[in-house]
Amino acid sequence: MKYYSLQHNSPNVDFKTATILGQAPDKGLYFPDEIPQWSKEFIESIQSLPIEEMAYRVMAPYVGDTIPESVLRKIVSETLSFDIPLVRVTEDIYSLELFHGPTLAFKDVGARFMSRCLGYFAREQKEQVVVLVATSGDTGGAVAHGFYDVPGVEVVILYPSGKVSPVQEKQLTTLGKNIHALEVQGNFDDCQRMVKTAFADDYLTQRIFLTSANSINVARWLPQQLYYLLAWKQWPFKNQKPVISVPSGNFGNICAGLIASRSGLPVEHFIAACNVNDVVPRFLQGEEYSPRRALATLSNAMDVGDPSNFTRILELFDQSLTDLTKILSSVSITDSETEETILRIFKETGYLLDPHGAIGYLALEEYLREHPGKKGFFLETAHPVKFPESVERITGYKIPVPEHVKPIMMAEKKATFIHGDYESLKKYLENF
Ligand SMILES: *Cc1c(COP(=O)(O)O)cnc(C)c1O
Repeated sequence: MKYYSLQHNSPNVDFKTATILGQAPDKGLYFPDEIPQWSKEFIESIQSLPIEEMAYRVMAPYVGDTIPESVLRKIVSETLSFDIPLVRVTEDIYSLELFHGPTLAFKDVGARFMSRCLGYFAREQKEQVVVLVATSGDTGGAVAHGFYDVPGVEVVILYPSGKVSPVQEKQLTTLGKNIHALEVQGNFDDCQRMVKTAFADDYLTQRIFLTSANSINVARWLPQQLYYLLAWKQWPFKNQKPVISVPSGNFGNICAGLIASRSGLPVEHFIAACNVNDVVPRFLQGEEYSPRRALATLSNAMDVGDPSNFTRILELFDQSLTDLTKILSSVSITDSETEETILRIFKETGYLLDPHGAIGYLALEEYLREHPGKKGFFLETAHPVKFPESVERITGYKIPVPEHVKPIMMAEKKATFIHGDYESLKKYLENF
């Protein structure tokens, strides 16, 4: 399989090059030149197939001959080495819990797959690879844990001082070894700008092999399909296709789901559930596509004003809005609706939603009300303990920290404090 740039101005590349480059030289996103078609037998066998075997068969065509079979089998089994249960919340609504990984958010899946692929490719590289990433919270932790102890790869994470939650900060700063946290005196935009400047600095990039662990990377994006198959494996109503509601920000997650359904996975309908950052909901309702500055909300991982992956969704549907809206709709949900939903569902069912999952839940509930007789699930993309300041305030319930996270919370923070300007980052990297 080859990957082409959506800007159509760069050569086609294999999986290895797409993973190392992240973005095509013409700044386009890479897109697979064919979508594998799964046989009916494969779909039916998902229920009985071991998870590793299923995952291997899904990922193998995308990876092609860039990674040997035995290595890829190991990578997919390590990617999915934690539970991803489909949990009943009401008669018609299930929750796909994607928060049982090391950093309590779905980004663990993509980050673990990508880090292991890059780790494999880095072994063929003479110089060490430096992964440089800016985070507003969830990405950094997932990337740090994904790359922890991967030989040949050093990871430098920039995060805004005082602007990530306590759990998120610990996930970034306590690992040590090849993971280096830079606590930046500035905000997320400063971190992002510093990273972008570093990638554009020829002096630096000629001396250090720099790469990003951005969410647009095909090695982070494509393995997200796997948990839609795991949901189907557990879906109790095999004669009824599920409606799937996905809390969306950059639209990578839902785009992976749409690819899986194009390959043959049974899906009744997709809902892209957004907060008030509503570029896509407006567009699908017939308005202009008009990106804008992101507004801050309770579901901060979805505060995206210009979703990068939406161009991939348009490509998948040959730019046809008519075809796209047959399978995908999108709604926008406010912070007060999010709060009401967290409280109501906790009271009625005892199920504790995080602000992102709450948006997925409410969007699904509304859809099912308008389409009686259907059933579905939403993606619970993060553990509520990652957002204690909102979830505990709303419900009055003190969320217990999961066992496997306790050691991280006790560990000592190690971070290098730097100013929020590029020169400070450059000096740090030069002495690396
Ligand atoms: C990143 C993130 C999202 C948004 O996912 P996209 O793939 O960017 O649409 C939703 N919820 C949580 C908790 C996240 O960390």
